[in-house]
Amino acid sequence: MTFEELKLTRQFLNAIEEAGYQHPTPIQEKAIPPALAGHDIIGIAQTGTGKTAAYALPMLMKLKYAQGIHPRALVLVPTHELTQQVSDAIMQLARYTDLRCLPIFGGKGIKKQIEQLSEGVDIVVATPGRLMDVYLAGGLQLKHVKTFIIDEADRMLDLGFMPQIRRILEVLPRKRQNLLFSATFSEKVERLCEEFIEYPVKVEI
Ligand code: AMP
Repeated sequence: MTFEELKLTRQFLNAIEEAGYQHPTPIQEKAIPPALAGHDIIGIAQTGTGKTAAYALPMLMKLKYAQGIHPRALVLVPTHELTQQVSDAIMQLARYTDLRCLPIFGGKGIKKQIEQLSEGVDIVVATPGRLMDVYLAGGLQLKHVKTFIIDEADRMLDLGFMPQIRRILEVLPRKRQNLLFSATFSEKVERLCEEFIEYPVKVEI
């Protein structure tokens, strides 16, 4: 299969070509078509399989171009390092668009992050704890989020982020697309999925 066959638009095909990706990986082949069709996705895939692009490309296709101040996509990741890594990967795929992505994580000054958010952003990549801190400080509106992504769900739950995830789910708009990726489909992950994903397409590699 080719990326063209996945019906990605030119600006993303160009970024993919520049990244040196020749063909979609198995998780990309399986997850991108139903995600582009608007379905909720549960993706079971390890790091190194191309899972980031598997959720980032459908997310970017839906966002299309920069719009407004408040994020329309939210990506939750378990660690500080991942906020930066995932944000970099997203920006690489979005390089031929004007989409704006910001990593939010603890450790960096909260004021500075709120200031950056106020300049306008389309995608926020955050750890759950810091996202809630910024939200409660009034530095972030989440009512425009139409795509909600949880990456490395199993690790997130192992780190005890369930209470923060629940609070975030409470303040997100009801009508949105959910994409959840996890290396394993443990009982904990299954229970989390049941809390907020109704009719998912489950893809596994
Ligand atoms: P991930 O599983 O998202 O952490 O991705 C692992 C690595 O695979 C990253 O360095 C990506 O840049 C790379 N990658 C993602 N998709 C592809 C692809 N279709 N072909 C080759 N490499 C890829």
